[in-house]
Amino acid sequence: MRLKRIFILCLFFLASNLASAQEMTYTVSPVLSDTPYFHIELSCGGFSADSLQFSIPEWTPGYYQLMDYASAVRNLHATDANGNTLSWKKAGKNGWWIYNKSVTPIVHLQYDVLSTKLFVASNHLEADQAFISPAGMFMHLKARVEQPVTLVVKPVSGWNVATGLTPVPDKQYTYIAPDFDVLYDSPILMGKLETFPSFEVQGKPHHFVAYRPREFDRAAFMKDLQKIISTAADIIGDIPYDNYTFLGIGPGMGGIEHLNSTAVSFTGNNLNNREGKIGTYNFLAHEYFHHYNVKRIRPIELGPFDYDHGSKTRLLWISEGFTVYYEYIILRRAGLTTQDDVLKGLQDNIHSYESKPGRLIQSAAAASYNTWSDGPFGSGDSSISYYEKGPVLGALLDLKIRHETRNKRSLDDVMRALYREYYQDKKRGFTEAEFKAVAERIAGVSLTEYFEYANTVKMPDYKKYFGYAGLDVTVKDGSFAITRKKSRNALQESILKDWLR
Ligand SMILES: [Zn+2]
Repeated sequence: MRLKRIFILCLFFLASNLASAQEMTYTVSPVLSDTPYFHIELSCGGFSADSLQFSIPEWTPGYYQLMDYASAVRNLHATDANGNTLSWKKAGKNGWWIYNKSVTPIVHLQYDVLSTKLFVASNHLEADQAFISPAGMFMHLKARVEQPVTLVVKPVSGWNVATGLTPVPDKQYTYIAPDFDVLYDSPILMGKLETFPSFEVQGKPHHFVAYRPREFDRAAFMKDLQKIISTAADIIGDIPYDNYTFLGIGPGMGGIEHLNSTAVSFTGNNLNNREGKIGTYNFLAHEYFHHYNVKRIRPIELGPFDYDHGSKTRLLWISEGFTVYYEYIILRRAGLTTQDDVLKGLQDNIHSYESKPGRLIQSAAAASYNTWSDGPFGSGDSSISYYEKGPVLGALLDLKIRHETRNKRSLDDVMRALYREYYQDKKRGFTEAEFKAVAERIAGVSLTEYFEYANTVKMPDYKKYFGYAGLDVTVKDGSFAITRKKSRNALQESILKDWLR
């Protein structure tokens, strides 16, 4: 018994020594100048090779475009454990070979990253604000992507720091990530920031930190945001994170979802009128629901990520498109919009999609796969936007399931099943065939016709599918409209009522 305990203790010390020997610690400091940049210092140990290849990702998960982050790296300098300068040479577009001639176990790197673009997938630094998109800032060693990393942030005096990363107790501005996937998934906002009153949903704290928000009622805004989060969490029935933070980076366009945070362009400028408020709420509901749909309920290709080439999938019409669809559903169920708002959103999506020539050329699945070359929204002429066709495909599948199950099941059941069976149990994403199998199991019928609408350019039978809820889809002078039929049977009535409750 005692021997066994000593053996276990030895194993523990061996493991912890190995971990500290291989530890990677980043220190990042903003440097304000005419061309602002971050200065990065990396200390990492545990080496026994004379050459090491470091890389910086070509993209950041959530934004499916190559970003060429490597081109912003300047002044790389490497030293060994004794302070001797190590030579290096570029390895392809986004890599660097470091030659550790005397094979010292510890290597130090220093480099700068130009940070001039205010965008949720870029690095940015100005007089009283900074944003770090970590994939574009921190180099990794391929063999060490799954190892823990420590990050020390050195903000300008008077700034505060907001991130979803786990803080190290009693060490100010020091954070840990269990691996580089989490580090790259955790943007950092710092500067002169305002924190709105936080709230809890299912016992989990939710924060909103913003740079220079305009005048609006903070308390009312956070009350509505709480309703949005509570409604979204009720759809899936589980909150998988310990805390969640919205990072409002200031003016601009765009948002990117993360496991326990989201970075959003936000000023609150539009919150004082209904249309602007609904638009902002749709946007925030979208980024929030992504922590389920794409971060956890995900296509199999979206993890582990291919940081060098991008991770291509044919299913962004689900990951992005259904997330747009759930914006509408969440806001309605949270009591923030009307049934007509939901129908108007879908009607606008149908109209936008059906009025572009690309609809006859590219399927939603092909648009998903080709987004890396076609751009996030497609060209319209030869390619389409899964943000337009995807939400309509979400509605069609929801209505089909409700019709076939006499309104006993819905798309919510599909999302919950995917969450349980793939994220929680199998701990991986799903294939196209697996998604289809789950959807058909819930619907209880073959969905061959439905999947043709996703995988080919065949025009959806809008009248049939919206007819399941007693609605009509008409087109007049090229404009699509979703209207209520004069009479509905009992099933149609119950579907409409429950669908847009
Ligand atoms: Zn999205």
